[in-house]
Amino acid sequence: MKYYSTNGNAPIADLSKAVVKGLAEDRGLYMPEQIKTLPKEFFDNMSSMTFQEIAYKVADAFFGEDVEADALRHIVYDTLQFDCPVVKVEENIYALELFHGPTLAFKDVGARFMARLLQYFINKEDGDRSKESGNQEVNVLVATSGDTGSAVANGFLGVEGIHVYVLYPKGKVSHIQESQFTTLGRNITAIEVDGVFDDCQRLVKSAFMDEELNRHMRLTSANSINVARFLPQAFYYFNAVARISEITHSQPIVMCVPSGNFGNICSALFGHRMGLPVSRFIAANNANDVFFQYLQTGKYTPKASVQTLANAMDVGDPSNFARILNLYSQNNRLSPEATHEAVTNLISGCTYSDEQIRETMRQCYADNGYVLDPHGACGYRALKEQLRPGEVGVFCETAHPAKFKEKVDEILGTDIDIPERLQAFMRGQKQSVPLSKEFADFKQFLLKQ
Ligand SMILES: *Cc1c(COP(=O)(O)O)cnc(C)c1O
Repeated sequence: MKYYSTNGNAPIADLSKAVVKGLAEDRGLYMPEQIKTLPKEFFDNMSSMTFQEIAYKVADAFFGEDVEADALRHIVYDTLQFDCPVVKVEENIYALELFHGPTLAFKDVGARFMARLLQYFINKEDGDRSKESGNQEVNVLVATSGDTGSAVANGFLGVEGIHVYVLYPKGKVSHIQESQFTTLGRNITAIEVDGVFDDCQRLVKSAFMDEELNRHMRLTSANSINVARFLPQAFYYFNAVARISEITHSQPIVMCVPSGNFGNICSALFGHRMGLPVSRFIAANNANDVFFQYLQTGKYTPKASVQTLANAMDVGDPSNFARILNLYSQNNRLSPEATHEAVTNLISGCTYSDEQIRETMRQCYADNGYVLDPHGACGYRALKEQLRPGEVGVFCETAHPAKFKEKVDEILGTDIDIPERLQAFMRGQKQSVPLSKEFADFKQFLLKQ
């Protein structure tokens, strides 16, 4: 498969380049040249297939030309060592629980898949180079304000030939989040930067542009816009539809995705292009409402993000908006008006304040005994408000509520259990390298590795 850039000014890339580079030369996002429709037979048989079997079929459509069948199957099966079940919350409303992976959020799926695909390409390259210079380790640099670092670190943990450096702002990450990437050891190094998240991001970007550093070591990013992190998220949408069709007898399905950078919903929209039988989508926003405003007005106006209870959705200029526009403008063949119409025909939106999020969490807990996390609460509420008679709604529970235990307990008056795998992180020994926010220090540190 070839990949083009949403900005239209970069050379076409193959999969391995798109994965290793992440972003195209013109700073656009990579898009697959073709999104294959899956055959009718697949949809007819889906409900008798397992999650892993379904995921492999979807993976084959995206990656099958570039990765041998056995290797791809192994990558998919090894990625999905946990379930993404569909759980009934109330009549006609279901939660797609995406928090059963190692770090209890949906980002585990993409991060684990990307780690394994990257390893596949490294091994292959080393084979091609006939080992003249031996294996050269690949170094993944990732800046995090919390959730991304834990998913990427755990996704790559123990993957041979890859070392991960997680940069995070000192004192700005919750204890639970910090423990998920500072206690791992092995091929994961946590770097505690005396600065804010933007400093971490700047250090990573400077490193990618530094020639001396790039001669010294192979550097790559595991950014969430990477096609290997973003496309695999389609797996669980197909599985969700398969599981729900066993219960609902062909009622139209509405898929509702709490959205920040819009990667998760974008992968669902790619699934829709492949034939996923979902009748429409809802993008649920917190107070960061640029996409909601686009739906209302047809104008996209990025803003500075505001801090909310659902902080993983605090994004003022979602990167993947470019992919949505590219998809529905048919790679800029349609006018902005026609594109807006195509988008609004399929996707609706909503925006909720922190007070509305709190109110929703309390109401759902009182009515159903179901504990929502602040992100999932936006999704649940959107279905409550927008579901039409005859439809079945599925919303993504994007993280386990225990990841936000303090807030959740305060809002609901509960003392929710922390799952054992989260407690295990919290018992671990913190290991991190303290660094200033100066690039010179970071560079010296990397040169010594
Ligand atoms: C990352 C994240 C989101 C937002 O997902 P996008 O793909 O950026 O839209 C929502 N909820 C949680 C818990 C997250 O970690």
